[in-house]
Amino acid sequence: MSAVASEPARVAPPKLNPVRVPITEERPEQRVRDFRTILHAYSREEAVLEAKRCIQCRRPWCVEACPITQDCREYIRLIAAADFDGAARVTLRDNPLAGTLCKVCYHYCEEACVVAKKGVPIAIRHLKRAALDQGRSDVAYVPSRPRAQRVAVVGAGPAGLMAAWELGIRGYSVTVFERDAELGGLMLTIPAYRMTDEDLRRDLARFRDLDVTFARSTRVGQQVPVESLLSDGYAGVILSIGTPEHRALGVPGEQLPGVVPALGFLRAVHAGQTVPLGHEIVVIGGGDVAMDSVRTALRGSPGARVTLVYRRDRAEMPADGEEVHGAEQEQVRFLFRKAPVEIVGRDRVEGLVVRAVELGPPDAGGRRTPTPIVGSEETIACDTVIVAVGQQTDLTGFPSRLELKVTSQGWPEGRGTAHATAIPGVYAVGGKSVVYAMGAAMEAVGELDTYLAAKRGETPSPRPDPFGAGPAFHLPAGYTAPIRK
Ligand SMILES: Cc1cc2nc3c(=O)[nH]c(=O)nc-3n(C[C@H](O)[C@H](O)[C@H](O)COP(=O)(O)OP(=O)(O)OC[C@H]3O[C@@H](n4cnc5c(N)ncnc54)[C@H](O)[C@@H]3O)c2cc1C
Ligand code: SF4
Ligand code: SF4
Repeated sequence: MSAVASEPARVAPPKLNPVRVPITEERPEQRVRDFRTILHAYSREEAVLEAKRCIQCRRPWCVEACPITQDCREYIRLIAAADFDGAARVTLRDNPLAGTLCKVCYHYCEEACVVAKKGVPIAIRHLKRAALDQGRSDVAYVPSRPRAQRVAVVGAGPAGLMAAWELGIRGYSVTVFERDAELGGLMLTIPAYRMTDEDLRRDLARFRDLDVTFARSTRVGQQVPVESLLSDGYAGVILSIGTPEHRALGVPGEQLPGVVPALGFLRAVHAGQTVPLGHEIVVIGGGDVAMDSVRTALRGSPGARVTLVYRRDRAEMPADGEEVHGAEQEQVRFLFRKAPVEIVGRDRVEGLVVRAVELGPPDAGGRRTPTPIVGSEETIACDTVIVAVGQQTDLTGFPSRLELKVTSQGWPEGRGTAHATAIPGVYAVGGKSVVYAMGAAMEAVGELDTYLAAKRGETPSPRPDPFGAGPAFHLPAGYTAPIRK
């Protein structure tokens, strides 16, 4: 009889705790009275308890799902050990907009977290906030040795700011051209109940020692031609101009007083201005901008009835589930499967004519195609219509020689590797969310750095430690491949 090989000792898999430490939030009836922050921060004790739920997977699914490869597994491990200073340092090491992202990131990491298979995923984004709140976060980034090459970044949204940081800590001299007076791009439309300017201001304060200059109120393409940047001594260019313009609905009546473009509305409210709205407000759209619009309209017009009109079903809304749930809690009225046909009124908006739609088979993107039902028109009485059906880019003055591709969601990007354009040394990036835009910039700067190193006759090296003391950037142990949605 042959001997039976002894089985290797089995290690019991760590036990998953499926229940998240609750995140306290303002009650809906209280919070709609003003723009107060909805989510309360974890206390130290709560953060440690939540972090202890993480089983420290050998393969860090959460990190693979983060477009900037934030090592969240590591900061969670440090929080579980009550080392908040260490956790803050790890957070800021990978993420120059961490104070902003801990409030507004759509936490792709949490969707990939293994705990989600059994219960509620680890509160990875909220723990980032705990790391920064409880740990030492008033630090400054340190540039590595100067490279004697200048790089221009066009646009100071999240993609442009990430590019400036990546280049600045590598020792490049960076000028960021921004057409607006303020820095932040579309982040400056996010309502204060989710993030404040102070969050972004604190993030940008950490750039103070980098060789990054901001040329505000300077529009590239019009005031400064793109090609002159290269002839003026910039060795590389990152175009990150995003989608700063409103996209119209394209129905009759859109020019009537009382029709409000969502982007201008949210930008004005964010800047502290009062935008007068009526008492019967209809918002058209199903994405995050529509959700921010309904919730901002509720807060800006006490007592008004706010209705959302969307042409598909709730399940097909592109908006973040948390935002939709928040709007439902705040008593926003949702009308699904209604397509806008016309805005009517004599001197100002008096109603929105909609047509019922049927949803057909799924399209290439998996969403069912809406088909209008002829004869099903009805008029929704209202005095204000907020149009939130998308944003677009403005390529005025950008040469066609760049061969840019405009994505379905509106931003321009390069067609080559890491979004290289057809002009050597020029890259064009953007993204569907703050962290995706930053991830695209990170990728482009990696390639641009290789290009610039070759011009200097050097071999490229990975991103240095942004605090000037630790090892250069490397993927965390067990990292296999990026998970992207
Ligand atoms: C209302 C709203 C809420 C959102 N909420 C969230 C959220 O909670 N979480 C999230 O992750 N994402 C959110 N997003 C999406 C996110 O803001 C965008 O995906 C992200 O800002 C894109 O970054 P970007 O840098 O590519 O472009 P943008 O943010 O559009 O920045 C582009 C910048 O370039 C500047 N620019 C444009 N043309 C020129 C030029 N010719 N010369 C100089 N400068 C120029 C613009 O002024 C702008 O500052 C939201 C978007 C909106 C509109
Ligand atoms: S930046 Fe966003 S996706 Fe990345 S770890 Fe933080 S919350 Fe998750
Ligand atoms: S996937 Fe979830 S459980 Fe695993 S390391 Fe990341 S946060 Fe922890």
